[in-house]
Amino acid sequence: MANLVKSFLLTELLKGMSITLKNFFSPKLTLMFPEETTPQSVRFRGLHAQRRYPNGEERCIACKLCEAVCPAMAISIESEKREDGTRRTTQYDIDLTKCIFCGFCEEACPVDAIVETHILQYHGEKRGDLYYTKPMLLAVGDRYEEEIAQRKAADAPYR
Ligand code: SF4
Ligand code: SF4
Repeated sequence: MANLVKSFLLTELLKGMSITLKNFFSPKLTLMFPEETTPQSVRFRGLHAQRRYPNGEERCIACKLCEAVCPAMAISIESEKREDGTRRTTQYDIDLTKCIFCGFCEEACPVDAIVETHILQYHGEKRGDLYYTKPMLLAVGDRYEEEIAQRKAADAPYR
């Protein structure tokens, strides 16, 4: 009988409408992505980059620690000694289709050469597009060095 009365008076419908009305005037949580984004941690692990020192010299010393630590075996490195006796990579590739964005490579690097940037909006249209070579990684680093350095500095007190 109670259910019959409820159905007749449309109480469920009115309850639903009252919730709609209440939320209609409450603050909106929806963000208009990509114009608006949520706050991002300085430790966000996005697109990889290779960094340089301010004099333009690449940081990477080809120690291969990142390659050794990578659980996805996404990094491939070849290296050789230069005339000045230093060792540098001749090939440094990251296959982003294998990468699980764990950040181990960045943690392992003794010279802060390989980093994961705040960049999350990138894509590939075929598998090969996400195979990042050394020039591609250095180009990302060159483009975003200022932001990368700021984020590293902000995170430094907590390490
Ligand atoms: S983030 Fe992790 S999986 Fe990706 S390249 Fe670095 S170590 Fe490998
Ligand atoms: S990126 Fe860092 S950890 Fe990887 S080979 Fe270069 S110096 Fe070593």
